[in-house]
Amino acid sequence: MLVEIKVPKFSPTLEEATLVKWHKKEGDWVKKGEILFEISALKVNMEVEAPCEGRLTKINVEEGNRVKVGDVVANIEEIGAEKADSAQPSNEETLTCDIAILGGGPGGYVAAIKAAQLGAKVVLIEKDKLGGTCLNRGCIPTKTLAKSAKIIDYVKRAQEYGIKIADFDISYEKIMERKNNVVYSLRNGIEGLLIANKVNFLHGTAKLLNKNTVEVIKENKRIIVKAERGIILATGSRPAVLPIPGMDLPGVLNSDEILENTVLPANLVIIGGGVIGMEYAFIFNSLGVKVTVIELMPRILPNMDEEISEGLKNVAEKKGIKVVTSAKVVKIEQVENGGLAVFAEVKGESKIFTSDKVFISIGRAINSEGLGLQDLGIEMVKSAVKVDEHMMTSVEGVYAVGDLTGGLMLAHVASKEGIIAAENIMGIKSKMEFENIPSAVFTHPEIASVGLTEVQAKEKGYDVKVGKFYYLASGKAKADGEEEGFVKIISDKSTGKILGVHILGEDAADLIHEAKVAIERGMTAKELAEVVHAHPTYSECIMEAAHAAFDRPIHSV
Ligand code: FAD
Repeated sequence: MLVEIKVPKFSPTLEEATLVKWHKKEGDWVKKGEILFEISALKVNMEVEAPCEGRLTKINVEEGNRVKVGDVVANIEEIGAEKADSAQPSNEETLTCDIAILGGGPGGYVAAIKAAQLGAKVVLIEKDKLGGTCLNRGCIPTKTLAKSAKIIDYVKRAQEYGIKIADFDISYEKIMERKNNVVYSLRNGIEGLLIANKVNFLHGTAKLLNKNTVEVIKENKRIIVKAERGIILATGSRPAVLPIPGMDLPGVLNSDEILENTVLPANLVIIGGGVIGMEYAFIFNSLGVKVTVIELMPRILPNMDEEISEGLKNVAEKKGIKVVTSAKVVKIEQVENGGLAVFAEVKGESKIFTSDKVFISIGRAINSEGLGLQDLGIEMVKSAVKVDEHMMTSVEGVYAVGDLTGGLMLAHVASKEGIIAAENIMGIKSKMEFENIPSAVFTHPEIASVGLTEVQAKEKGYDVKVGKFYYLASGKAKADGEEEGFVKIISDKSTGKILGVHILGEDAADLIHEAKVAIERGMTAKELAEVVHAHPTYSECIMEAAHAAFDRPIHSV
């Protein structure tokens, strides 16, 4: 029987590849499972095996040519009992693997790659797009927009730098197009990594049937995935809903919807002055939108060090962002001109804020429904999955990582937890370190933080010594025209040990890792101050703040 050798479906989204190499030539005898040829997509090579034993009678496509999924590239005259799979596709299929992973965000896909690197046969299931919230609706799109906003800030200040820009236009459409291209290219990159690591990626909605079995529904097909070593749950989170009248009015947007909105509003009310709310406040302010931030707590960024959040509020107000704190939004109504009115109780007074659009940024809801968790008896803390330091749930062999566990909802936390889960399933007894996680806010200037805030350190009973250094006194900050902000180091007076570092200022998100290493290695402020730092750099501000934390800074009085 003559068997047609076709280009297999190697990726859920890509349809084309290059046939880079034939491992057999016409007339060769091939065994089932032997490598026949290699294709390459996104710079990743994939080997295609012979589906049966027999003679390779014809090669239709030469090396170097483009091929599409389903193209017949060769024929094998089949010998023996095993027939090529020419049967009609059934609606049910069973797959076996070592590890099945539910969710392709930074928790899930990183776990998949790590597990594959450790030798596991991995199936990764994602119902939407690879990269999850972070890549498609979170970290990357917002940072891409923040970069455009920062360039606008510089263009507006060009004259300060001796550059005259007569006129400039902002194309929000082009900014969004750039954002889409960045996301698209990174998503392809992840797909390439999965292919390179031989992770079997299934596009479908998954749920647990038992502690070793996952059901995947893809259109009208049901795939049963049997995972012999373990399962990792990484289904993430979604925007939380504010339970007030008017939430579903047109023009009221959450953090997913705001990225779909391609027309810039003239003004915007942001409900929630947390990280996401403040990042968008700065972005839209730079784009020329009149922004009002309404925050329930007495200050924006309520989890950050008080001086840092106060510092950012000052910068925001200088830029023209209106910040209203201690304000409880009670309802939203449509007004006559098609705009929206946000009703709030502000320190006992009723206030109305009108705008074209309202952006709700009040936190995240956990995606733990419909996964079969209750049936399996997996212990929960409210809607979050409870895990131990190995990222294992209360059911042995079932692990959970990322936003689903309700901890710090950050992409790097999800990824690290994914690695810990993969390692533990593969027999490496690693533990997640939940303390001293660095975090950043990508406003302009940025914020970054690691360890205890001043208040937290005092609450823990430390006799605190604070060292501070202002960007204003930094040569690099002056040269760059980025003089806003400061570094604040909180140390233990008795031992000198660094307890926390908080930065408001240019490049804070990159600078913070020096502080992370210092805290993790138990360094004192004196030890950090003694480290030679290159000049002129922003990291000198950390060195100077360290000087201030045990003695006095050199470049400040
Ligand atoms: P997710 O990224 O949410 O991925 C979960 C995936 O699981 C999703 O793709 C989902 O489709 C899939 N899924 C769900 N249910 C199923 C199912 N039943 N079957 C199959 N698949 C399923 N963090 C940072 O560290 N830095 C930042 O700058 C930052 N900026 C952010 C900006 C915004 C606007 C937002 C919203 C978030 C931001 N975050 C940031 C947070 C970060 O995006 C999340 O912490 C991170 O994405 C969590 O990763 P995860 O893998 O746990 O979940």
